[in-house]
Amino acid sequence: MAGNAVTRFAPSPTGLLHLGHAYAALVAEREASPGQFLLRIEDIDRDRCRAEYEEAIYEDLAWLGLDWQRPVMRQSDRMAAYRTALVRLAPLTYPCRCRRGDIRAALSAPQEGVLPAGPDGLVYPGTCRTRSLTDAGPDDVIRLDAARAFDALGIDRVGFRDQAIMPGHDHILTRDQFLNGIGDVILSRRGMGTSYHLAVVVDDAAQGITLVTRGKDLFDSTYIHVLLQKLLQLPTPLYHHHRLIRDDAGKRLAKRDDARAIRHYREDGATPQDLRRMLAL
Ligand code: GLU
Repeated sequence: MAGNAVTRFAPSPTGLLHLGHAYAALVAEREASPGQFLLRIEDIDRDRCRAEYEEAIYEDLAWLGLDWQRPVMRQSDRMAAYRTALVRLAPLTYPCRCRRGDIRAALSAPQEGVLPAGPDGLVYPGTCRTRSLTDAGPDDVIRLDAARAFDALGIDRVGFRDQAIMPGHDHILTRDQFLNGIGDVILSRRGMGTSYHLAVVVDDAAQGITLVTRGKDLFDSTYIHVLLQKLLQLPTPLYHHHRLIRDDAGKRLAKRDDARAIRHYREDGATPQDLRRMLAL
């Protein structure tokens, strides 16, 4: 597979790119080579995305020595595609009006201590599961009924391969593990018309991505993506979940860690080679 892959780097323009993004982008390019490295701007969260951060992404990546195909896919231009996918999935979805507090309260009732949480937050207790899409309100989110999704597909597990983590071995989650550990994920967030999970699946397929490289923090989300790929009859790419770049205290870098922004290293006179060295690339 390696050598002819189509990979992508998919940042959200919600802040300056930091060292962790530089690592993710450089790994995506390395793993594609001599295939194709694509860029995708994940800007569905209109409240948090800013045009100046998108400009900064292009500048910082070019400074790092990366090149990519234009025009760049931007998720804000892709709402019709997400809508089409939601319509296809409609028989397996329902509107949900629960807020985080409602979900906490419903989950706390039968148990004490740690609430069940997965890659998408608290495992939804199913309060709205019997509601019909026809009475969806403007403030509702749309959730996937995961049990019905497995039943509709006639499968009792989902799995994928990762070329970096136990290569050659299937990473598998059974239906029960999915229902208890992930649950009814959100496919369309309030006021957004999609969610990260739905958009990433639709777009990876539209861009012909054959190898998804991204941080290990998204490893468990991949089970959600594989289920959605099956429901939408899209191919499941190969995955490569890479290490996360941490600060000196061992904490994963976040956009607010401005000190680690690529452009600050650049302003301090560092070269792209210096960054590669720091990232052990
Ligand atoms: N937009 C996501 C992020 O910035 C990327 C997710 C992915 O690569 O699938 O974390």
